[in-house]
Parts: sequence; C-alpha cells; structure tokens
Amino acid sequence: LSAWANVPQAPPDKILGLNILYQLDTNPNKIDLGVGAYRTDKGEPWIMPSIRMAEEILAKTETDKEYAPILGSPSFIDEVQRLLFNHDTSGYQLLADGRVVTAQGISGTGSLRVLSEFLAKFNPVCNAILPNPTWANHIAILQESGIVTSKYRYYDYKTNGLDIDGLIEDLQSADPRTVALFHLCCHNPTGVDATLEQWDQIIRVISERKLIPLLDMAYQGFESGDPIRDLRVLSKFNDAVTRGMIPTYLLAQSFAKNMGLYGERVGTLSIVCADSKEAEKVRSQLARVVRPMYSSPPTHGSKLATIVLGNTKVYRQWLKDVKKMVTRLNTMRTLLYDKLTIEYSSPVQWDHLLSQKGMFAYTGLNAEQVTKLRERKSVYMTSDGRISLAGITSGNVDYLAKSIDEVTR
Ligand code: PMP
Repeated sequence: LSAWANVPQAPPDKILGLNILYQLDTNPNKIDLGVGAYRTDKGEPWIMPSIRMAEEILAKTETDKEYAPILGSPSFIDEVQRLLFNHDTSGYQLLADGRVVTAQGISGTGSLRVLSEFLAKFNPVCNAILPNPTWANHIAILQESGIVTSKYRYYDYKTNGLDIDGLIEDLQSADPRTVALFHLCCHNPTGVDATLEQWDQIIRVISERKLIPLLDMAYQGFESGDPIRDLRVLSKFNDAVTRGMIPTYLLAQSFAKNMGLYGERVGTLSIVCADSKEAEKVRSQLARVVRPMYSSPPTHGSKLATIVLGNTKVYRQWLKDVKKMVTRLNTMRTLLYDKLTIEYSSPVQWDHLLSQKGMFAYTGLNAEQVTKLRERKSVYMTSDGRISLAGITSGNVDYLAKSIDEVTR
C-alpha cells in the first residue's frame, strides 16, 4: 500500500479549472473573462515600458544575486515606504517617528500570510471578519493560520451597491480586537468601494469597537488611474492613527497588478506600531515568522520595483503605464455597457457596471446564466458572474454583449 493511499482528492481551484476548460474549447470566438491579469487590446499579456526600462538598468548595474535580508532589502523597503506614506502629512509623521514596520513578502498573498501568522501569534482574539463576498483566498489564508473567519455584510444584491448600514451594524457587533479585513480600493470581486464619507464612518466604528484593521491593497492605481490618488483611504487611516483614534493597522500591498510583475512576486506588509521601540520588537518577530517559512523573499522583482520607484524617469513612465492600463479597462467597461443598453436594447439594468471600479465587473449574472454563456457561447467567467475587463477587447466586445444579452432575455 502506498504511503499516500488515503490522501483524498482536493477540490479543484475554481479559476484554474475554468482556465483548463477554456484551453480545451475550440470555438474561435471563445473569450476568457476569468483572468486576473492585464491584457492588451490584442488580448496579449503586457510587459510595461517602465519595467523594460528597469530591466535594462538592472542588467547594467546588478552586481550580485545574493540573498536579500529576511524582511527584504532596505533600499526596496525605503522606496515602498516613500510611495505609501510620504504623500500625506500623517503618513509622513508615522514614518518620521519610526512607527511603521515594512517588510517584503511574497507578493500580496505571501504578505497577507505573514501578517496572518503574526496575528495568530500575538493577537489574543483569533477571530477575523471579512466582507461578503471577498477574494476567496482571504478566507483560506487566515484559516490556515488558525484564525476563525466570519463575514460582515458588504454587497447588496438588490441595489448592486454597498450595504453600508449592514456593514456598520456587523462591525458594531464584533468583539474588541477582532481583525477586520478591508479592501482599500477596487474591491475584488464586486468593484464596489465605500465612499470617502463612508470610510470616515467605518473608521469611527473601528475606533469605538477597538477592531484591528487588516488592509489589503492589490489594485493601487486601478481606481483613478493614479497610484498616488488611490492612497486617499490609506491616508484616512494614517490620520486616524496620528489623532489617536486607532492604535494600529496592518497593510498588505502588491505590485503584481500595478507593475505587471505577477510572477515576480513583489509586495509588502506593514504594521503600524505605538512607537519605534515597539516597532523594533514587532520587526524582530516578523523575521521569526518568515525565517522558517522561506528564509528571505525573491529579489529580481523587488530590484525592478526599486528602480521604478527610485528613478525619476522610470517612475514617470510607470505612472503613464498605469494610466494606460486603466484607461483601456474603463473604455471596455463603457463599451460593454453601451453595446448592451443602446445597441442590443437589453431589458436589464446595467448601470452598476459603470460605477464599479478596477479590473473586474460584477455583472449580476447568476450561475445558470454563467453556465449558459460558457456552454453555448464559449464565454468563460467565474460562477459568481465576475468578469475581468482585461479579457475584453475591441475585437470581442460585440460578441460578448450580444451573448450576454441573449442569455439574460
Ligand atoms: N488581494 C486581492 C484582493 C487580490 O485580488 C489579489 C490578487 N488576485 C491579491 C491580494 C494578491 O495577489 P498577489 O499574491 O499576486 O500579489
């Protein structure tokens, strides 16, 4: 008998499973709307010109392939802290006071995982509340660290908008020190974010209930087209900390999407502390979490990101590249809406498509319609009706709109 004879088959990953079906489909009109990565209008992956520039500079200047320190290279960490905290006075103050510990993780996922291990070790309340719905991996990451997860109301399926009253009510009934996870911008999968006024309300409840905010920012830049402008909500958290409303927050961010460095695994985690002494202790414990897991983070991608953020010419090009991606995604968003409502006179109300933000649109298509689209039209999306706008091109948007219209009549 094999040693692994009793290992049960794990359920397939939903998105990867979808991709296999898509690959096997021979319909020349097939469309993949499951992809969580940017595609050009020709449907191809894109290496951003700024990243090409950084690669060239790196090829000329790189002197070694040595290990990075456990928590990442200091020059990378400095650049990322400047990007995230130097644009508002409160963030600047937190940095100046040595209150922010930042470390490179293995992209957004790995950074969340390190934070989650830290929370499991040092937060006496091992509970977390997450938006309903959320990125499925959030639940798995926290649970793998032994944290018990539950949901707070978020998306309102009647209005296709935010259920702010439900959200506030659910946060109000959470115990002190419960970890509360928030998507800082471009909520995945719904594309629905709180307004700045609603964020003030949310931060007030976090303060009153003494919750521990865990902030995830995987799509910085995709809301407005400008990575700096998209820091407005983070600035609110910085203000709340410096005004003593909340003592801490934890942040995970990723350069997978906004630098197109998906496979390079570049991202960071940050923890805001009471003072620099506490920060030093927290830093030492983060190193203890990372060391037995993977010793140190990968370096190629973080060297590229360091150049992008630190070299003025490359940085300017990066801002243009992000703008270009977001402009194309928004063009596809509007084009799909226009085709559905004007060209095909769809009886369905599609206005929510226009107000949602980011790489995805949460269409409101039900599981049955999603199946019909796949089986009859070769249009592939996750069963919750989320579509990646990156999969839409000027060449396939008409076929897509026609197909969606047909299955929703
Ligand atoms: N958070 C959210 C909400 C995401 O959608 C993603 C990417 N799909 C991530 C985090 C992390 O991605 P990565 O590990 O590739 O940086």
